[in-house]
Amino acid sequence: MSIPRFQSKTSRDNAAAPKLHVVTFGCQMNKYDSLAVEGRFKKQGYDTTDAIGEADVVLFNTCSVREHAEERVFSWVGELKRAKEARPDLVVGVMGCMAERLGDEVFGRSKVVDLVVGTRSFQHLPALVDELLERRSQSDGKRVKLSRLGFDEEPDGRREGEPYTGGRQGYLTVMRGCDLNCTFCIVPKVRGRVLSRPVDELLDEARWMVDHGAQVITLLGQTVNSYGEDLAVPPAGAARGRGRQGRASLADLIYRLQELEGLVRIRLITLHPSYVTKALAEALRDCSKCDRFLPLPAQSGSDDVLRRMKRGYTVDLYRRRVELLREHCPQIELGSDWIVGFPGESEGDFQATERFLEEQRFIVNYVFQYSPRPQTHAAEAHADDVPEALKRERNNRLLAVSERVALARLREQLGRELEVFVEELHEKHEGMLRARTFNGVPLAVRGESTLVGTIQRVRVEDCTAFGLAGTLASAGGRS
Ligand code: SF4
Repeated sequence: MSIPRFQSKTSRDNAAAPKLHVVTFGCQMNKYDSLAVEGRFKKQGYDTTDAIGEADVVLFNTCSVREHAEERVFSWVGELKRAKEARPDLVVGVMGCMAERLGDEVFGRSKVVDLVVGTRSFQHLPALVDELLERRSQSDGKRVKLSRLGFDEEPDGRREGEPYTGGRQGYLTVMRGCDLNCTFCIVPKVRGRVLSRPVDELLDEARWMVDHGAQVITLLGQTVNSYGEDLAVPPAGAARGRGRQGRASLADLIYRLQELEGLVRIRLITLHPSYVTKALAEALRDCSKCDRFLPLPAQSGSDDVLRRMKRGYTVDLYRRRVELLREHCPQIELGSDWIVGFPGESEGDFQATERFLEEQRFIVNYVFQYSPRPQTHAAEAHADDVPEALKRERNNRLLAVSERVALARLREQLGRELEVFVEELHEKHEGMLRARTFNGVPLAVRGESTLVGTIQRVRVEDCTAFGLAGTLASAGGRS
């Protein structure tokens, strides 16, 4: 995403609705929050614009996972300096994880920024902009700065009255924060402890999304299968969920969404081995709308490294949780994140990771070279002692293992007939469609655009390490 040159517009046509432009960095959860923020501004009479130069309010929804992600925000903000000089009424805000991590320090680093809003306060943005403009009108040109940070409030997740702009494939944040403390991770510091949204609020939002065109809903959470752990224990005599002490759980949510008319596919991002339960495995077996693809980051195949990462499980526990899932739902495919070059990682540790990836046959793997993040335990407690060159070498070695394993796994699908959901037109190949199997494998197939949004049977005829290709098995299919 390159930084655009900012064309300042001379004055705002007061008759026209004020315009908002949101630049989103990072994960799907940020994309969800940005849509929610746009929805709230629209409820206040704003229009959104894709042209940053046309905006009256520019917001950056930021990410803190890597230093690079934070530095890019300041480069973008820097580009607004001349525009702000040309148009002092322009409002520039920084929200999300970096805002929560740096707080008011952002104002010191950039004179362009007026608003700093944390990960649990974004619903207040329209009111904060009004307050800022009000204070500015009484500040005799002095700089006005406003910030709202911290976790002492629950984001108001209700979306009624907002236009749905999420498209066919919608995302639904079911919980915020994380109760774990992986030593390399900044998330608990910038997103707080687990806060699950009420089941009924989520079902209302899912119904609203489907009523406005969503066919696929991906449930989002840092550890989405810990959903409900913080919800109240139902009183005696009340309906009991499948979670701890009868609490509502992710499994309950999946069963409820399975009944939602018009919803075609349910997907999950991101799971944690410690929260894999029999109830979840059964829900995946029983609910045909739920993709049998689970992003279940292992991070390492070495118990020593997992211990220093404080991941909360051993290789063997991970193995047993996967066995539990596959015992109830044999078609499950797995995806994983891996960190190579974590402090103290020996050649033996790394080879254990290579072997574990091979053993569990993950079909999707994201490999990251360890980089210390300020305010994380690993950065404070461990020297970053694996040389950069060795990190790069291990990164490439693990990617090679990943490609070999995924290719072998996908080759097993050749000649088979699979059901797929046709997601969209293939942007690179005329007449081709992008589809996805029910266990999460991308598949390309030739077909009419009218098939988008339908379920089709496809005979698999080719594959790479990254996906399948095939032909329609028969005319028709189902939506
Ligand atoms: S599970 Fe670990 S890596 Fe994932 S968000 Fe929580 S602390 Fe971070």
